[in-house]
Amino acid sequence: MTWETIIGLEIHAQLSTESKIFCGCATRFGDEPNANTCPTCLGLPGALPVLNRRAVELGARAALALGLHINHQSIFARKNYFYPDLPKGYQISQYDQPFSANGELEIMTAERDEAGHPVEWRPKKIRITRLHLEEDAGKNVHEGLPNVDRYSYIDLNRAGVPLAEIVTEPDFRSSWEAYDYVNHVRRALQWVGASEADMEKGNLRCEANVSVRRVGDDKFGTKVELKNLNSVRFMQRAIEFEVARHIQVLESGGRIAQETRLWDDRALETRVMRSKEEAHDYRYFPEPDLQPLIVSAEFVEEVRSAMPELPEQRRKRFSEQYGLSYADASQLVSDRALADYYEEAAEASGNPRATANWIRSELLRELEAKGVTAADSPIPAKELAALVKLIDEGKISGKQGKDVLIEMFKSGKSAQAIIEEQGLVQVSDTGEIDALIDGVMAANSDALASYRAGKDALFGFFVGQVIKASKGKANPKVVNDRLRAKLKG
Ligand SMILES: [Zn+2]
Repeated sequence: MTWETIIGLEIHAQLSTESKIFCGCATRFGDEPNANTCPTCLGLPGALPVLNRRAVELGARAALALGLHINHQSIFARKNYFYPDLPKGYQISQYDQPFSANGELEIMTAERDEAGHPVEWRPKKIRITRLHLEEDAGKNVHEGLPNVDRYSYIDLNRAGVPLAEIVTEPDFRSSWEAYDYVNHVRRALQWVGASEADMEKGNLRCEANVSVRRVGDDKFGTKVELKNLNSVRFMQRAIEFEVARHIQVLESGGRIAQETRLWDDRALETRVMRSKEEAHDYRYFPEPDLQPLIVSAEFVEEVRSAMPELPEQRRKRFSEQYGLSYADASQLVSDRALADYYEEAAEASGNPRATANWIRSELLRELEAKGVTAADSPIPAKELAALVKLIDEGKISGKQGKDVLIEMFKSGKSAQAIIEEQGLVQVSDTGEIDALIDGVMAANSDALASYRAGKDALFGFFVGQVIKASKGKANPKVVNDRLRAKLKG
């Protein structure tokens, strides 16, 4: 019996505003607990919400970066539930008229081999049910404070921070598709500055609805909601765990309960948190203290025109303008800072393809080893370009270039300075190389006689001797050309 996996995802992304969505309190992270609160976000009677225009702009950026349509009118609604970190007793969200609905997004996704490496990338369309704006709740703190066994602590600094919630249809058929989708969304939101979208910092949170069904069945199986997924990799592993659990329960004749489960990243398993509420439990109704949100076509155009070139457009332009392969261009747009870095270096070096190779094969390895991104590269783009130029001009060899790059990375010095310090100059001068060749021929008269008698294989021996005599500095191409001419006699 074979099983099919069905996954839908909900992403909550914190929008990068400086103040909260319905009041002027700061959204800064790490301040004294409850320092950033006011009557509105504390839910005091009589305090009224006022919508933050910047939150709407960033929500629009998020929607446009994902290729979604923005509704002309959306309605804020109260989602009622009682929980200590929700001071009003309801969350202001959007329900039946959200900011954006019925969208579609194309992602690139790949099956992975046993080691988790992508096998072959292919496009896949994912239907986006909705993207809506809402406020975040506060935080209950159960650790690191006095008498936590008897008290719960509540920090409301996060209450009222703006979120975009992005919900998909159950369109994913594997944990890796979900993984590729979350990475796609994360990059898109970061790219346009809508959200920092960092799962480890908690400003991008992800929930997965997972079920399985027998291949050929029309009906979905009972779904389980997974929470507490603190990285994209944990999400992927939690889904794998859950799918295996469902299949095992169903094959042994059991039933899956509809519930919310938490991923435990130490035990590498999911655990029951609570049974799942239905939408009607929340008694949604329109928020009477806020007007309908009207987003004009002009507003959307204003936001769109202020956005940077999107990753997919930039990938296409890199391919066309700089003659890069799909793989090269895709990797270079995996991060906006890297794409900017590449473009600056390519323009300065005048050799866009060589620049792409140096970044992909050498620089990224060093960056990764140091755990920094292109934005913080110790080698500025202009200096990498200077290195590529020195190699193109034959001043140093490609092999020397690799050592120079590592030294640049370590010391922060320019390529030129390192070459001068280490005397790393490639000798291309034919007069100098001819003199070396003459010396080698004189010292190896037997080999020369054999070569001239037809032993062609000795050519490599002479190349090696000349390079050695130059202490590795002779340009191999010039050595080859001159040797062919001179060995003939
Ligand atoms: Zn406030």
